[in-house]
Amino acid sequence: MSTMGANQPDISDPTEWLNTPLSTFAPLDAAVRCQVCKDFYTTPMLTSCSHTFCSICIRRCLAADGKCPACRASEQEIKLRRNWAMDEVVTAFKSARPAALSFAREARDGLEKIEQHSRKRKLEQLSQEENSDQRRKTRSQSRRETSTQDSSQVTEVDDDVQEGECCLLLLCIYGPSDR
Ligand SMILES: [Zn+2]
Ligand SMILES: [Zn+2]
Repeated sequence: MSTMGANQPDISDPTEWLNTPLSTFAPLDAAVRCQVCKDFYTTPMLTSCSHTFCSICIRRCLAADGKCPACRASEQEIKLRRNWAMDEVVTAFKSARPAALSFAREARDGLEKIEQHSRKRKLEQLSQEENSDQRRKTRSQSRRETSTQDSSQVTEVDDDVQEGECCLLLLCIYGPSDR
């Protein structure tokens, strides 16, 4: 345990989830941390007032003023009990956290790209709609431009495939909505 603390590159924080599609993980992340040291519970102990702290954190507080740091109720070290359920949650969350956080960050970056992409597409569609009336009037002209139209159609197909994937991703994250 002591070697882990020495090697930790930076202290993790519940705010790392904010501004990602998994922002609801922030309160969960905070709920498995000790109020005293703000880090994940290490050897979580339950007080007689049903608050949980790291073993070392609560023992230090009780040595200082004999009160629970959360509710200020009088507490004795002898009454502390191991919180095994919290221990299990912390272990599971700590092992799941890195993969979940990097997944959330990738999804956020993906969503930013999608927004840029759809903004660009809307502008393109607007200009296409403006041109469509002109095209109907000058059909013979547009036939001469077939070669350029073909190339634009090819890119449009690629766009549609991407947009289909985008919609699925958005559905996963935000649930179905009528767009
Ligand atoms: Zn602590
Ligand atoms: Zn308390």
